Amino acid sequence: MKLTVWTYEGPPHVGAMRVATGMEGLHYVLHAPQGDTYADLLFTMIERRGKRPPVTYTTFQARDLGADTATLFRDACLAAYDRFRPEALIVGASCTAELIQDDPGGLAERLGLPVPVIALELPSYSRKELFGTDETFYQLARTLAQPCGRTPEVSCNILGPTGLGFRHRDDVVEVTKLLDAMGIAVNVVAPMGSRPSDLARLGAAHFNVVLYPEHAETAARWLEREHGQPFTKTIPIGTRATRAFVEEVAGLAGIAPRLDTGDLRQPWWSASVDSTYLTGKRVFVFGDATHAMAAARVARDEMGFEVCGLGCYNREFARPLRALAKEMGVEATVTDDYLEVERAIAAAAPEMILGTQMERHIGKRLGIPCAVISAPVHVQDFPARHSPQMGVEGANVLFDTWVHPLVMGLEEHLLTMFREDFEFSDAAGPSHHGGHAPVAAGEGGSAPHPPEADSPRSISGHRKDAEPVWAAAAERELRKIPFFVRGKARRNTESFAAERGVAEITVDTLYEAKAHYAR
Ligand code: SF4
Repeated sequence: MKLTVWTYEGPPHVGAMRVATGMEGLHYVLHAPQGDTYADLLFTMIERRGKRPPVTYTTFQARDLGADTATLFRDACLAAYDRFRPEALIVGASCTAELIQDDPGGLAERLGLPVPVIALELPSYSRKELFGTDETFYQLARTLAQPCGRTPEVSCNILGPTGLGFRHRDDVVEVTKLLDAMGIAVNVVAPMGSRPSDLARLGAAHFNVVLYPEHAETAARWLEREHGQPFTKTIPIGTRATRAFVEEVAGLAGIAPRLDTGDLRQPWWSASVDSTYLTGKRVFVFGDATHAMAAARVARDEMGFEVCGLGCYNREFARPLRALAKEMGVEATVTDDYLEVERAIAAAAPEMILGTQMERHIGKRLGIPCAVISAPVHVQDFPARHSPQMGVEGANVLFDTWVHPLVMGLEEHLLTMFREDFEFSDAAGPSHHGGHAPVAAGEGGSAPHPPEADSPRSISGHRKDAEPVWAAAAERELRKIPFFVRGKARRNTESFAAERGVAEITVDTLYEAKAHYAR
């Protein structure tokens, strides 16, 4: 048992639903208890799809358990086939149905339906959503892809986009543009945007472009083995990675690389003098491994930030993430426990977080600005406007999204110079985020205060006796340090004092610690 309030990933059958919902002409019969239909809302509300996911649930109840749940499953399969007439069917069990062991695969096979029936084995108690998408897509490719000759023109498949994917819709548009500029045709985009009959001709492409390894790496490896198709390893997030991706694709296609940079604004925006104040800003990066690694590289190499923490929640991809963290000289946080992530963020005391929806909440609690770079995300990250992460326009979007939550350069300067000012007091927060909204009458009339962000104690909630105590003068001196680096200064001084057995932190201790860490 594990006490859990937030989970970064759903159960693996949600992954299978994401594959089915992204496709057309495929139906999913899911053996699941009454109530599991909640997952429909992910697609109809968060992604705002205009129709129900192609999923039939058996929705068994307590009283069914005394009778024949296997018959219930068979009937649901027949009814789903009759009603939807899909080109192929996937069948499987949710966590509860896994316990009653009705064997959906075996049952569906015996029905003798005239279309391919693919049984999914998704271990709900040991694996999660991303395993579910990857395994489902792999099983579909394996069952449906037929041996076929290559297209006469150079073509590739785009693999990985699914229903409920963070910016998948717009990434596909951007990557198609990159390929188009090189004269490379797209054979099939899958799973999102394809039908089972499209998957039959996956083998006709000359190579595969894998956009999201979490969803498509197993299928891509299988296609490489069985159909001789190499696949791309570079994820085109950020300007540098987009250039590297174009080079890699050109290599696979046997043509010269070509990238249209007419609309690429991010490098100049990052290099312009107004971005100087971004240099060295400490960021903590967390998300799925692919997005987190891409974001860390962009943060360090293109925006001039200092990456002070890097992590992911999907252990399947922990290895490359750990390697990158090591290269960046930071500790990797590989966990699906958001409390652990919160502790790591508090300890690193960053000036900004790049993370998921969960880190947005953590950032709010700690008073640290945050931009979202990875699923899980909420409804606001399925925007109406074109908003890719990949390719040329993706690089532009990253710049705007990451800079926006930060305090602007001039304001940062004013906050440091006039910290006693009624308007630019550092407790007031960035003005462009409504930090200066007047306090409601009766609430005291002073400037609003964001939650105390400068101490990791706000997380543990209590002080240990052995912790050094701050003398009043030292505490006053500490407040002269701009608020966005104050947390780091406080933490460093406390560890400096603790290591030397200093019980009371004075102004001298503060400056000694500063000199020590500056060395
Ligand atoms: S079967 Fe799994 S997903 Fe469905 S309600 Fe139970 S625990 Fe949740």
